[in-house]
Amino acid sequence: METGMNPERQSLLDALNIDHAIVSGRGCHVRDAEGRDYVDFIAQYGALPLGHAPDRLWDAVERFRTAGSPTLLQPFRARHAEALAERLLGLLPDNLRWVTFANSGAEAVEAAFKLARGRTQKRTIVSARNAFHGKTHAAVAATASPVYRKPFMHDGDGHDYVPFNDLAALEERLARRDVAAVILEPVQGEGGMIPAEPGYLAGVEAACRKHGALFILDEVQTGLGRTGRLFALEEDGVRPDILCLAKALGGGLVSLGACIASDEAWSSSFGYFHSSTFANNNLSAAVGLALIDALTADDGALLAHAATMGERLRARLDALVGIYPDVFQAVTGRGLMQAVHLAPLDDPESLVVNFMNDGGSSALVVCAFLMHAHGVITMTPLSSTGRLRIEPPLIVEEADIDRLIAGLVDYAEMVRAGDLATLMRVCYAPEELRPDRRPALVAGSAPVRTRRVPAAANGNGANGEGRSHGRYAFLIHPTEFADLAGNAPRGLADLAEPHRASWNAFLAAIGEQRMEPFDPGIALDCPRIESATGVADGHLIATMMLPEAMMALTPRERKRLVADFADIALDLEVDMLGLGAFTSIITRNGQDLADLPFGVTTGNSLTAMAGSEAVRLAGLRHGIDPAETKTGVVGASGSVGRIVCRHLANDCGAITLFGNPDNPNAVAALEGLAGSIYRQLLAGDATATGPIAEAVRAAAGRSEEVRRLAAEPAKPAVLRALWREVNATVARENRPVGTIEVSVDPDAGLPEMDFVVSATNAKGSVLTPERFKPGAVVCDIARPPDVAGATAEARRDVHFYEAGVMRLPGDIAFGRHNIVGLPRGVGLACHSETIVLTLSGVRSNFNLGSEIAYDQAVWVRDRAVEHGFGTALVDVRSHEVLAMERGEA
Ligand code: PLP
Repeated sequence: METGMNPERQSLLDALNIDHAIVSGRGCHVRDAEGRDYVDFIAQYGALPLGHAPDRLWDAVERFRTAGSPTLLQPFRARHAEALAERLLGLLPDNLRWVTFANSGAEAVEAAFKLARGRTQKRTIVSARNAFHGKTHAAVAATASPVYRKPFMHDGDGHDYVPFNDLAALEERLARRDVAAVILEPVQGEGGMIPAEPGYLAGVEAACRKHGALFILDEVQTGLGRTGRLFALEEDGVRPDILCLAKALGGGLVSLGACIASDEAWSSSFGYFHSSTFANNNLSAAVGLALIDALTADDGALLAHAATMGERLRARLDALVGIYPDVFQAVTGRGLMQAVHLAPLDDPESLVVNFMNDGGSSALVVCAFLMHAHGVITMTPLSSTGRLRIEPPLIVEEADIDRLIAGLVDYAEMVRAGDLATLMRVCYAPEELRPDRRPALVAGSAPVRTRRVPAAANGNGANGEGRSHGRYAFLIHPTEFADLAGNAPRGLADLAEPHRASWNAFLAAIGEQRMEPFDPGIALDCPRIESATGVADGHLIATMMLPEAMMALTPRERKRLVADFADIALDLEVDMLGLGAFTSIITRNGQDLADLPFGVTTGNSLTAMAGSEAVRLAGLRHGIDPAETKTGVVGASGSVGRIVCRHLANDCGAITLFGNPDNPNAVAALEGLAGSIYRQLLAGDATATGPIAEAVRAAAGRSEEVRRLAAEPAKPAVLRALWREVNATVARENRPVGTIEVSVDPDAGLPEMDFVVSATNAKGSVLTPERFKPGAVVCDIARPPDVAGATAEARRDVHFYEAGVMRLPGDIAFGRHNIVGLPRGVGLACHSETIVLTLSGVRSNFNLGSEIAYDQAVWVRDRAVEHGFGTALVDVRSHEVLAMERGEA
């Protein structure tokens, strides 16, 4: 639904179906248009201390109105604002003396920074890693997470960061004596509800005094009752130089913040030169005053209630961790700001689930589930994934907590039963999650657990048996929508319409997800592969982008994606990195990754070798001899296509190289390629015994011009002339087969081919049904495939195979979908190349760039055979696997 407001936020709400139309609210509860009741455990991230529609505060507004009080009246004194300032100062440590009102938390933080720099005349503001202080330009600079800073070109100039709860690190930083102020939260809220350890804040205060820095305490979220005390500083016994308040101060009715300074922090320049039109709003102050009255009335009864509820909430959540440690890993926080740390959803065989775990959307799915199934509103903290934030109004009741706990228990039981399908209904059938409509748990789908191999357990280098032992990673992404769908959580493969369409829409949203703020790559462990001489432990590094999304990335986004891949590979301490699918293209065939401290391969060599050997394998099956028939190569001038052509020339009878008709240089490039293959055949490759090799050698024997051209430096014009001369010589002999032809007219040429090998880089299928000879054999190397399923159905007389794949040395699969839906025991050849190089002890770059050396490709094919891999084919219609016998080259 388009709203005219933030479309990114809206699409998230739409994907999880949590765009409820809330029409009314009172206390901790709100109602939607259908009259459904929800209990609010978010309270606008702490800004609704008395819940929704608080009578007490509305009464204050009424009184303000009835009295005819002016809201804004600069330059005169704002009497309500003054009264609120006085009230606040009376409740705070007596060193705090001067209140500056603001309109938000971030603005209060901005004022604090101006105070600190103005007074100390030093520049640096030190904040904690994982901190959150708001999103205006200066506040966001103190918000350490680069996610919030980087997109806006904020480099953190004038800011520095230290680990939270690490006093020694702060002391060391302060010792440089260039720090204007240190800003900290008593409990890191958006960072995941992480409290300061006892004594830490007092230590910080002392360190600041010692080194001449000011101490800013950001109680925007913790202040005014959230932790069970009026201010969290009471518990820590600290006296900051500047205190920031906001959120609860406005009582959920108005925007109000405050920056409260000591004499040591105040300066006359700040007094003269800082102000804001809306800052001393009397109406806002009247609400703030009424809120303070509510909190302090009856000897602080509401604060005591909040403290009690905080303790009960925490005890109940801790108990859940005790009962379901496999579902809830921990609880952190203080008072009524708690976070439940969720275990990742357990379906390691599903890339989609792994991606959701890593990017934080699993936790959002849990929030959506609690909302749909139990009418409980929770959210995740802004900067920490995998946590549920629990932050109800201070007036929360035991019955509300009961409802939250019941929802969490329901979730835990569902996860324990392995029923991710029901959980994922938030994306495709949320209404069926309501208790009255809820289907029984999907039985018998308990998770299959795979062991994650800890990095330290697999040291590199030779192992005890003298075998080469290495670690690799292979980059993947879905090359077509079917790959995304195939990677769905267990139980979701067979959805019927209309659920299927909704689920597919969710998957599509995942595939299109912009990289910011998510880290695009995730890592998964692969099964170990062993051969007689090597051991390879591997990982898949995956992103969920479809080819269109990847190719649409801006250069900056591509760079970031590739850098993220490289970082993950570095963390995994790999020896080799292989590039799957379009990751080769966006790294210029690996050249952009050439300087990493591990080897990189495009995997194109083995892809080309397996793709071309597929012709022989398929020929054997169908009783068609490539030496006596015609083979066409589509996408011949690509880096894979070139090696395919070169290898086919060893045994094939006649080859036609097909190029792109839209490329004006295609013919010249193909002629040059054909000439270079002739030249290589003439250079005396003994393995080439087929008709083409024979014809070329015969032509050289007969034609002086062929010999002369073959001896000249291999310039494009020379190669083209060589090609022309050889073909003319062969034609004079009237041989039926024995040449390489070129064509940019696949419509005319392809229907004459007995074998077709297709290896384009197209983003979708390019080979249409009418382009094949009856009974032809088609070996499709391209990812995504050049042959669509519909084509295979339309031409049942043609034999269609997925090629560029290998039989693995064992009954192995990489995830439930085996990367692109390959049968067990079969792997992509580019992935296999990465494994083979790792098993062979190669630790350097292998064949990067678009020109692959043929002898290197032969070398890696031979190593593959030694390690037990073999060329394979998968029948597109029946999924039957055809593989070379072990040991057969
Ligand atoms: N400081 C802290 C500790 C916060 O939690 C927040 C908001 O979550 C802010 C500052 C920013 O407040 P606002 O969103 O009102 O700008």
